[in-house]
Amino acid sequence: MSRGTTKTAAVAASAAAAMTTPAQLERLAEHLRKLRLLKSGERLEALLQDAAAQELPYAEFLEHVLGEEVAAKTSKNIAMRTAMARFPFVKPLETFEFAYQPSIDAKQVHTLASCHFIEHGDNVIVLGPPGVGKTHLAVSLGLKAIQAGYRVLFTTAASLIEKLTKAHTEGRLEEKLKLYTAPRLLIIDEIGYLPIDRVGANLFFQLISRRYERGPMILTSNQSFGAWGEVFGDRVIATAILDRLLHHAVTMNIRGNSYRLKDKLKAGLVRSHDDSSQPGGEI
Ligand code: ADP
Ligand code: MG
Repeated sequence: MSRGTTKTAAVAASAAAAMTTPAQLERLAEHLRKLRLLKSGERLEALLQDAAAQELPYAEFLEHVLGEEVAAKTSKNIAMRTAMARFPFVKPLETFEFAYQPSIDAKQVHTLASCHFIEHGDNVIVLGPPGVGKTHLAVSLGLKAIQAGYRVLFTTAASLIEKLTKAHTEGRLEEKLKLYTAPRLLIIDEIGYLPIDRVGANLFFQLISRRYERGPMILTSNQSFGAWGEVFGDRVIATAILDRLLHHAVTMNIRGNSYRLKDKLKAGLVRSHDDSSQPGGEI
């Protein structure tokens, strides 16, 4: 920009500032407060000055103001829904090292990240031994769902069953079932880590039936489907649960070494797993 145009812009800016009276600024601030356009309220004077200095056309100025407001509201909304989802940690998909876990089809995970499975009401089931990234993937896909505008809730199977059992004994089961059916995406982590009693298995089945063909879920387990009879302490219930879950589902079977042992493996302190010994291996 030449000296001449810089000078012209400065003159225009001060003229614009002069054109905006304190009373007018006050009224604008009040309107923005009432409309809850908080970001625009904070930035009002700076935005007006920029617009004057750059001699922005009206439409461009409006686009700028509204664009900033929408961006601020969107990130606030994402932060709020992320907190409501109760993830054990927040790790985006971009932090997942696919190179470390070649048994995972990266393309399949990226397709899931587009969230079409949520629109279709499909389930995603992630199987594999401890430490291979099941929870990380479930959280990462949950975060993508939040960015796409869905409500998400994360729970472990143990916590879910404990809460349903407590609600059942206190006569509040319906209320609790609603809590787990309301979010568009429910993530149930760690099926199979702890044994489930008959009442728990029954309550779990009730929840799966409610969400069946309506609410998509991501489930993770360290046990192959064949072992779910033992996990639920009842082969009939396990079959009924799997029947519903697998009707519309994508299953990812991770076979590999625990990421937690990555550095130890590299240093030769522990031996690498043989693939055939993985629990997720014989589905
Ligand atoms: P799992 O649920 O299968 O037991 P986690 O998802 O909890 O395993 O993974 C254990 C730890 O290792 C977590 O901190 C996770 O973020 C990390 N991790 C696992 N796999 C990967 C990977 N491929 N890339 C980056 N971090 C990973
Ligand atoms: Mg886990």
